[in-house]
Amino acid sequence: MKARAFSYLRASTIDQALGAHARAGDDVRFIAGGQSLVPALSLRLQAPQLLIDITHIAELRGISCEGQSLRIGALTRHRDMLSEPLIAEFAPLLRAAAPFVAHPAIRNRGTLGGSIALADPASEFPAMMLALDAEIEIASQAGSRRVKADDFFLDLFETALQPGELVTAVHVPLFKSNQRIAFDEFARRRGDYALVGCGIMASCEGDRIEAIRIALFSVGNVPTRAKGAEAVLNGFRLDATRIASAQGALQADLTPPESDEVPPAMRLHLARVLLGRLLARIGEGA
Ligand SMILES: Cc1cc2nc3c(=O)[nH]c(=O)nc-3n(C[C@H](O)[C@H](O)[C@H](O)COP(=O)(O)OP(=O)(O)OC[C@H]3O[C@@H](n4cnc5c(N)ncnc54)[C@H](O)[C@@H]3O)c2cc1C
Repeated sequence: MKARAFSYLRASTIDQALGAHARAGDDVRFIAGGQSLVPALSLRLQAPQLLIDITHIAELRGISCEGQSLRIGALTRHRDMLSEPLIAEFAPLLRAAAPFVAHPAIRNRGTLGGSIALADPASEFPAMMLALDAEIEIASQAGSRRVKADDFFLDLFETALQPGELVTAVHVPLFKSNQRIAFDEFARRRGDYALVGCGIMASCEGDRIEAIRIALFSVGNVPTRAKGAEAVLNGFRLDATRIASAQGALQADLTPPESDEVPPAMRLHLARVLLGRLLARIGEGA
């Protein structure tokens, strides 16, 4: 199928993009990497009258340290997560997740802002925003605001973004020397969306967990923190008994959706196995 005819505007500033969106009304979409939007247009799942291309807005680019956080521009491409030294040093969990996002051709064009705005519950980066305790920077004609990742992902493909708002960047606390990360996922083939995936950020004192954030994806309508498992681990030594308790807590943390392909019990089992492996890696100093 072909996309329905649409008008196209290439914006060169945030103000221009927001103004054009406000004038055009509801029937308009921003386009960034186009790796999710273009297939949706081609299948006529979406048929907006106007596309506003944001890829030439310089203000949406760049990665920089700002105080105690790393600001990552919305137009940062998935492939940049693999090559940017600041990501490797200060946000290594994003570096660890990036090779699992789709295939090189998609990583060459797909953007962090697009992935977060879309909020696919099977996507890696939205869940990693939870694990990293990130803040999402949002621009509207009323000004700029920041929303904690914990408050951003509301329901299936639904976020705290209001119509016409633009994700401009994300802010991630700088990685510290006492922190450890672990990431992995189960997929049928490398590059496919995950059956279940998980990323962990842990602050440690020797072999004791001071604070841990565990985020899973492909386990429900939204990327999900395993808060029960976190509570089992916080303040304790990470040994086999503690890991088993955290795995047990997932039963209450997750409500996997009904699915013929991956029944809820199977998804829960995969999540438990994955969590056990990742916690063991954290224990080894991952
Ligand atoms: C075959 C295939 C496999 C894939 N596999 C994976 C995978 O394994 N894991 C994964 O995470 N993703 C996967 N993707 C999706 C890919 O990562 C997308 O690139 C990404 O989800 C969206 O980013 P984008 O820049 O392409 O956004 P676009 O497609 O341009 O936009 C997506 C949506 O976000 C909105 N949007 C974009 N940027 C902004 C912004 N800055 N502010 C507000 N709204 C914005 C658009 O209006 C649109 O509604 C796959 C895609 C394909 C085609």
